[in-house]
Amino acid sequence: MQWVGLPPLAAAVSNAGGLGILTALTQPNPEALRQAIRETRKLTSKNFGVNITLLPTINPPDYEGYAKVAIEEGVRIFETAGNSPGKLIKYFKDNGCIVIHKCTTIRHAKSAQRLGVDVLSIDGFECAGHPGEEDIGGLVLLARAAQELQIPYISSGGIADGRGLAASLALGAAGANMGTRFMCTVEAPIHQNIKEKIVASTEQDTVHIFRTLHNTARVFKNKVSTEVVSIERRPGGAKFEDVRELVSGARGKKVYETGDPDYGIWSAGVSVGLIKDIPTCEELLKRIEKEAEEVIDGLAKLKVPNEKAKL
Ligand code: NAD
Repeated sequence: MQWVGLPPLAAAVSNAGGLGILTALTQPNPEALRQAIRETRKLTSKNFGVNITLLPTINPPDYEGYAKVAIEEGVRIFETAGNSPGKLIKYFKDNGCIVIHKCTTIRHAKSAQRLGVDVLSIDGFECAGHPGEEDIGGLVLLARAAQELQIPYISSGGIADGRGLAASLALGAAGANMGTRFMCTVEAPIHQNIKEKIVASTEQDTVHIFRTLHNTARVFKNKVSTEVVSIERRPGGAKFEDVRELVSGARGKKVYETGDPDYGIWSAGVSVGLIKDIPTCEELLKRIEKEAEEVIDGLAKLKVPNEKAKL
């Protein structure tokens, strides 16, 4: 949700009954995050969280600075993702915060559990952005979470509707995390063309870049991502410097500003194939809840023939 997790969307998600999340690195520096938190508070009286993602970046961010400012501003729910968040987790827990850590393997989930996180966000291979390097789909990953984890977990990756939520609950999750689906809402602060592009796309419209650099990222399939993949496949492979200009986040940001889907790299999950409209966050969450209840009720009815068979 880099460049998308901004105050209007985080507030709209929280106002609709979800937990909106500001993405810290979308802000150029910690003081800008402070202003974004204040702006969000003006838009919602509900809780919201801040995400801090630790992955390779062109310019190293001041992670501790972002964390400190958010705590000073009274944020008490954090989502961490990416590499070794140990230091940050300790800092958040020392300050009485709830920490949700996103991970793509059970090994990492167990290690985060040992470090004291409160909730795990179990991120299947369907997800937008960085799915890790192990390629484990959500179905197995969530079922493995049910076998192995002692703390609550939510599903992440591939969730965009009530069926996805019901499936997540069936797999032991306490809820679901959605990114791509929220990009395609009225309140998402991105160009209308990009929302319409998502609606028009199918589940075959994402691609992995950075596979050969061991920093795999699922992004929308467009001119730039196709070029990056072909550079990576050249004999002898590619170094980050060979694709740096093409993949820079600053260039990706322009996609959302100008509405040109081919301008740069932008994250998108396989769930683009499930997205058929651009509702408000409130319409979306109400619909997902209703659909999930219908699916669960439908499944409950399946028990009846078995009960009769026993008689
Ligand atoms: P950026 O402009 O610094 O980098 C652009 C892309 O190149 C990012 O995907 C980054 O991970 C990758 N990258 C940078 N240096 C690299 C290196 N030396 N080797 C391999 N890959 C390298 O990043 P940005 O777009 O400003 O985003 C800021 C941070 O947020 C990055 O760490 C990015 O990965 C992360 N992010 C995470 C997700 C997610 O799925 N959790 C989605 C979007 C962005």
